[in-house]
Amino acid sequence: MITPADDPAALRLAAGRIRTGGLVAFPTETVYGLGCDALNAHAADRIFLVKQRPSFDPLIVHIDDRTMLSSVVATLPVGADQLIAAFWPGPLTLVLPKHPQVPDNVTAGLPTVAVRMPAHPTARALIRLSGCPIAAPSANPFGYVSPTTAQHVREGLGDQVDLVLDGGPCPIGVESTILSLVGAYPEILRPGSVSLEDLRHVLGPAVRPAGARPLSPMPGTGTRHYATRTPVTILSRLGERPSVRSTRRVGLLALSAIDVLDDRFAVVEVLSPSGNVQDIARRLFAALRWMDTQHLDHVYVEPCEQVGLGVAIMDRLRRCTAGPHPGEGDRAGAAR
Ligand code: AMP
Ligand code: MG
Repeated sequence: MITPADDPAALRLAAGRIRTGGLVAFPTETVYGLGCDALNAHAADRIFLVKQRPSFDPLIVHIDDRTMLSSVVATLPVGADQLIAAFWPGPLTLVLPKHPQVPDNVTAGLPTVAVRMPAHPTARALIRLSGCPIAAPSANPFGYVSPTTAQHVREGLGDQVDLVLDGGPCPIGVESTILSLVGAYPEILRPGSVSLEDLRHVLGPAVRPAGARPLSPMPGTGTRHYATRTPVTILSRLGERPSVRSTRRVGLLALSAIDVLDDRFAVVEVLSPSGNVQDIARRLFAALRWMDTQHLDHVYVEPCEQVGLGVAIMDRLRRCTAGPHPGEGDRAGAAR
């Protein structure tokens, strides 16, 4: 069932479901999450089952205040307080030492827990009314493009979710930045809209960018992920146009307005006419999903500049194109 997120009765119903071990999909400022009581191991098991998420891929725990933070975290490492003051509520997830009461399946057996205080009013209201921290990965089948609307959630998970709170499209559109504070250096595990520059501004130059070490084996940070069924190729520069065989149905995802409409492309989608990076991030996943419904043989996407939010956009696009592709039959014929 999809219900409007601004309906107080729907929010109370959703909180009741969370308290009794149910699953509720809800909007955050990044993407839609599939949430359950983070201290209920059985409910967390259901999330892994519904998403078909491997048990070694830990969940992010969402909190509403400092009291909840102390219920999931054992200690706060150096730097945590400054980061919390600067970026919470907001799209920054911190990896911290885990409190023993957080079930092991939530953290995939790790001694650490990923925690975030979201800024979205619906997410906050749901956590507050539920009275417990909420474990929530993105509300989509494992490995597919994350949902940024309630409709995306329904398309991916159908009626396996007890309730979907519809708060409209997510304002940021890519998942949170994940920063580990448990190693020798603060290290970005996944880039997001809180950038390396933002983090260094608070913690200094010690912060390591994502990928500074060999890729971790963790899904969402290391392997093919966020993937469409249609093969995607990132063009080498803005404005590059691949040569396309006339027998192929090919789509172009352009970052900004394009000069000439090219009839080699069956579908052209412009993410932001003015090339605004926030708009590109906000619309990226919906555009990839839409392209995936257009029966295309291949999608080409323009690259964006790798600074600030552009790092996160390119990270998601690379994961979308990485590794062997299930629907790749015709890829050898894709002229570039
Ligand atoms: P999502 O699928 O967007 O909810 O993101 C969850 C991701 O957060 C996982 O795939 C991991 O990459 C990361 N993560 C969660 N918990 C931890 C942890 N304890 N240590 C390191 N990374 C974590
Ligand atoms: Mg995910």
